[in-house]
Amino acid sequence: MSVAIRDAWIVTQNPNRDVLKGDLLIEDGLVREIGDVRSGADTDIDASGDIVLPGLINTHTHVAMAIMKGMADDLPFPDFLARTFSIDSKRTPKDIKCGAELGCLEMIRSGTTTFVDLYYSEDVIAGAVEASGLRGILSWTVLDQEFTTQSGKPMDNCRRFCESFRGRERILPAVGLQGVYVCSSGTFVEARDYALENRLLLHFHLSETRREVNDLKKREGMRPVEYLDKLKFLGKTGLAAHAAWLTLNEVRILGRNGTSISTCPVSNMKLATGGVAPIPEMVVAGVNVSVGTDGSATNNSLDMFGEIKTLGLLQKSSRWDPSILKAQQLLDFATIGGAKAVGLESSIGSIEIGKKADLVIMDGKSPNLNPLRRENVVSNVVYSSSCQNVKSVLCDGRLLMKGREVLTLAEGKVVDAAVDCVRDLMG
Ligand SMILES: [Zn+2]
Repeated sequence: MSVAIRDAWIVTQNPNRDVLKGDLLIEDGLVREIGDVRSGADTDIDASGDIVLPGLINTHTHVAMAIMKGMADDLPFPDFLARTFSIDSKRTPKDIKCGAELGCLEMIRSGTTTFVDLYYSEDVIAGAVEASGLRGILSWTVLDQEFTTQSGKPMDNCRRFCESFRGRERILPAVGLQGVYVCSSGTFVEARDYALENRLLLHFHLSETRREVNDLKKREGMRPVEYLDKLKFLGKTGLAAHAAWLTLNEVRILGRNGTSISTCPVSNMKLATGGVAPIPEMVVAGVNVSVGTDGSATNNSLDMFGEIKTLGLLQKSSRWDPSILKAQQLLDFATIGGAKAVGLESSIGSIEIGKKADLVIMDGKSPNLNPLRRENVVSNVVYSSSCQNVKSVLCDGRLLMKGREVLTLAEGKVVDAAVDCVRDLMG
């Protein structure tokens, strides 16, 4: 199957960060031509004046929590945790599927084509991801037995999931860890060994709250990154979510180990956990930075456009420096940075010949994106856009949404099912 996209502003995110005016030809899921495409295609999309971007990459979420939005708002953090854990413990495969489908719909509509998930029941979530046409790196959460609501040993559940979902086209199983507050050193080491042996991503929460850092300091005499470094847990296949409460020494340790981070500014701000991830210092230390929304119980949105703008504003405002992070860097974090974070930078994250056609087409005629000129395309995407500007989305060369109509999931049914599930869950 081939798709041609004609006469668009193409934000390539290639090594030169070229913004081109022209066409794209996609064949067999890959970008084959960029520029002037003369041949016809099975599907021809007139994108005159529109903007084409690489699909955005959300590197930290809990997609099945999409049905939990608005259920635990405006609470102090311990009360928030108590409330979400009590709802989580009652969840069934049916409502996890409903939540995952709802979250996938929201991601398609807001231009995300790849996401990293951290949850249990990833086998159920995988079904929803496959139906949606998105690409999911699904990390089964491992934690100590005494803290889990999973039946069976979490590491065994994780292994079983990874083994049975290996080799799928758009599902990449991964190993997840809840964090230092519920994982012993033995749990970290066992998860690391399994991930290394099987070349899987290791995705974990890190230093989200000051309390988590202080508790570990009391218990181990070290801060979380120092502790994980001592366990030899950190490495190139590691992806740490939040990383908000870090010292400069910890930033350097992450840089030395090649560990990526997923910053989640909206979630951190809404929960008021304090701590602003030291992104400028990470960039200097060579830490690969990517962006995540976190789950809908804390965000309460999966919109990556909103996330990168907020990230920029938070960093600028807290440093009293509007030049501290630039629009181009913010877009990099959500595209090529995300691709590196999951080890897929050779196939996704930019629009280049031979790469997978994960693409977002935005309405370039929309008032909020104009005036549009080559010089301000990236700036307008980062600071002026809205997820409502997303018209069409392709993942792996397949159209998931065309002209604002989602083609893979039955939108009305998914939304109705989510409402029914919440009624059952909340009573
Ligand atoms: Zn999280």
